[in-house]
Amino acid sequence: MDGDLLVSHAHTAAIMEGATGYLKIDLAALGRNYRKLLSMLAPVRAGAVVKADAYGLGAVRVAKTLYGQGCRHFFVAQFVEAVRLRPALAQDAQIFVLNGLQPGNEIACAEMGVVPVLNSLAQWRQWSAAARGLKRCLPAVLQFDTGMSRLGFPPEERAELAAALRDGGNVEILFIMSHLASADEVGCEQNGEQLAEMAGIAEAFPGFDISFANSGGVFLGEVYHGVLARPGIALYGGAPNADEKNPMEPVVSLDVAVVQTRTVPSGTKVGYGGAHVTQRETRLATIAAGYADGLPRSLGDRGAVFYQGIRLPIVGRVSMDSITIDISALPESTLTLGSLVEVLGPHQTLEDIARDADTISYEILTGLGDRYHRQYR
Ligand SMILES: *Cc1c(COP(=O)(O)O)cnc(C)c1O
Repeated sequence: MDGDLLVSHAHTAAIMEGATGYLKIDLAALGRNYRKLLSMLAPVRAGAVVKADAYGLGAVRVAKTLYGQGCRHFFVAQFVEAVRLRPALAQDAQIFVLNGLQPGNEIACAEMGVVPVLNSLAQWRQWSAAARGLKRCLPAVLQFDTGMSRLGFPPEERAELAAALRDGGNVEILFIMSHLASADEVGCEQNGEQLAEMAGIAEAFPGFDISFANSGGVFLGEVYHGVLARPGIALYGGAPNADEKNPMEPVVSLDVAVVQTRTVPSGTKVGYGGAHVTQRETRLATIAAGYADGLPRSLGDRGAVFYQGIRLPIVGRVSMDSITIDISALPESTLTLGSLVEVLGPHQTLEDIARDADTISYEILTGLGDRYHRQYR
């Protein structure tokens, strides 16, 4: 594995745009993850959730790669993301805005051919009014709240929505959808409750295609699949559910350079607040990434990085731009200025670091900063 790292020596590192961290994004692995989900879903189709810059990996690169794999449905969260992505994709790719529109964005959205997900009667009315104003029929998706209380038509708006649909309102509904709150927990009863709620909605609003499953939902079984799945995290190599071995292929790896090494005696304070005090003579290295690069402060005195498979614990608090690690486990002089250590890679998965940081893989991915040299392959 280490053998195929394109960046593995300090002198190679130095010539790359002044960056001190190297984020590798494996687009081939992304494509294989998409195809794996497709094979589980067939004949159901899979879109791709590329919100938040494709979970930090680069929405344009990711979406173009998946388009090449046959993906034609791309979901972003906010209209601004659709504005950025629309010119990069061919016209037969549809872009859906999960949060729907803020008032005032309707005409721009219609003109760009972007499809809003309507979550409420308020959004419905605005979109319908825009359609009548343009004397056109405009496409939309309807999202229903089936128990998450976040986005989507609440139960009390369904009757009025049904009436509005009978009137048409110049809106063409492409499909209806809902989102699972606990799809990453296979045994969670909320999944079944939401599925039942969606079945009721499908009866009340007959004739529409259904989109239901996110990554976790794909793995909950066929009844959750609808006709169009909306995976995000699984495409990017994150585990679709919490309990089982991750079936997806890693897409991201991250190596960070050493800035300085030192040996300190027992009783030495390390980092802000002197929060860590060495218990013995310790060799330390400071690496050039911190919480501003998306490595959370909660990793302080908890997380680790790796060097050739050897665990190097984080000592003291995580700084904005650096982290200090204990390298006593390595033979002296192994790490020097410019050496690279593994933050994400064969020895430390997204889930590992998320667990140590007391968060989820999604937050780690979307937080990865823009000071890394990004290498797509
Ligand atoms: C983010 C999101 C997804 C993707 O979820 P993953 O768990 O990353 O697969 C799907 N649908 C909606 C509505 C979302 O907000």
